[in-house]
Amino acid sequence: MQTSTSRPTTPSIPQLRADIRGRVIGPDDAGYDEARAVFLGEVDRRPAVIVQVADADDVSRVVNLARDAELELAVRSGGHSSVGHGVTEGGIVLDVRNLKGLDIDPAARTAWAGSGLTAGEYTTAANAHGLATGFGDTGSVGLGGLTLGGGVGYLVRKYGLTIDSLLAAEVVTADGQVRQVDADHEPDLFWAIRGGGGNFGVATRFKFRLQEVGTVVGGMLVLPATADTVAGFIAAAEAAPDELSTIANVMNCPPMPFVPEEHHGSIVILAIMVHAGSVEDGQRDVEPFRALATPLADMLKPMPYPEIYPPDDPDYHPLAVSQTMFVDTIDRPIAAEIVKRLEASDAPLRAAQLRVLGGAMARVPVEATAFAHRAGRIMVNLASFYEGPGDRPTREAWVSEFAEALRQGDTGEYVNFVGDEGEAGVRAAYPGATWDRLASIKKRYDPGNLFQLNQNIPPAG
Ligand SMILES: Cc1cc2nc3c(=O)[nH]c(=O)nc-3n(C[C@H](O)[C@H](O)[C@H](O)COP(=O)(O)OP(=O)(O)OC[C@H]3O[C@@H](n4cnc5c(N)ncnc54)[C@H](O)[C@@H]3O)c2cc1C
Repeated sequence: MQTSTSRPTTPSIPQLRADIRGRVIGPDDAGYDEARAVFLGEVDRRPAVIVQVADADDVSRVVNLARDAELELAVRSGGHSSVGHGVTEGGIVLDVRNLKGLDIDPAARTAWAGSGLTAGEYTTAANAHGLATGFGDTGSVGLGGLTLGGGVGYLVRKYGLTIDSLLAAEVVTADGQVRQVDADHEPDLFWAIRGGGGNFGVATRFKFRLQEVGTVVGGMLVLPATADTVAGFIAAAEAAPDELSTIANVMNCPPMPFVPEEHHGSIVILAIMVHAGSVEDGQRDVEPFRALATPLADMLKPMPYPEIYPPDDPDYHPLAVSQTMFVDTIDRPIAAEIVKRLEASDAPLRAAQLRVLGGAMARVPVEATAFAHRAGRIMVNLASFYEGPGDRPTREAWVSEFAEALRQGDTGEYVNFVGDEGEAGVRAAYPGATWDRLASIKKRYDPGNLFQLNQNIPPAG
């Protein structure tokens, strides 16, 4: 390691270009602004260099450089971090977005997938074989961040979290070593990367289990939001078989052309759901939701599973504040409170996103992976968009008061939705024994805390 007196303040871009197979982008290069942009609109950081790696050896070189030069290292896949952890001010961005290799073995029902693939890209390719792995609700989210944090999506009740389908990974650790990690090789590291986020190294490839999911009954259902429909929706989602996973966004209705104009702006349930069973069962199992009220839009239908990920607008960079939590129940009084608070806000967009969990996710023992919230019954995300620094504090206060009103005793948070909450947020993601085990594995694999631009778990001791 170099001493601090010989430490370069910026990495040598010509030297990097000579050493790296991938693309090296400096502040003066065309494409710099595009390459440093992340999903969140408020994040505007200027890294010294962005390295879009081409392979694991590139990753290893960048890791070694960042460690030896003591430069801040950001690791980026799809750029959707809720705090903009995929970009650094002044340091190096190790960008895996071009690691898009995908090797599907339909007979074995497994796939090796580059960590730069998005959920949508993988899902479309796997669907050509009538197969799928469960990711999140948005096609442009990167497999890198989503998988390492857990992965909660449309197959969560049927097939569990994304990490429950993770069979192996290739990980470059802080010492620059490229490691093959699975239940038999480096089992502690394999445990830690299933929920522990980007703390333990750079994942270059994941091996996923695929399931037979070709045509599903799913799509969007928009209902008027009242205490009865919201509580009824949750009850129906809890009563549904594991095949059905739902995401209910209780929110002010955007001006969507397929919803009658008089409902634009009013509080609705904009639900997205997937039934990963037979079409016949799916049609039957979505009926209770349709029966809650006359739908304002009913787009539930049999469809190829990838249609659940419509194309995302790459220029969409919202300004938003949010808070995540788990609750046990959303009964009628709680549902009334949710609708009342959403009605009272005048934010351009505000939402309570409600995901009924359980099923396969809850059947995995809590100590089996670093995701500690298997018993969480309903995941709630409260979010408010804001327009600028002027209204941010008001929106933030609204979200946190809303969260306090809904809290039911579970102080846990899903790491991929934790905001800029400091150590408290990380502790909420990794309670008790999970924290202790993660910290000790961190000490073994990243004693210098090279990977700290994340929901950070410092090395034990
Ligand atoms: C619109 C939107 C919808 C979402 N929906 C869901 C959802 O339905 N379900 C869900 O579970 N989550 C969801 N998320 C949260 C999402 O999973 C996390 O924000 C995730 O971290 C994003 O991953 P990314 O690779 O796109 O982001 P990035 O910003 O690129 O990465 C986030 C962090 O992950 C780590 N990381 C990324 N790639 C690697 C890698 N290859 N190796 C090591 N570390 C890495 C780094 O620490 C990085 O800072 C959503 C987020 C957004 C913005």
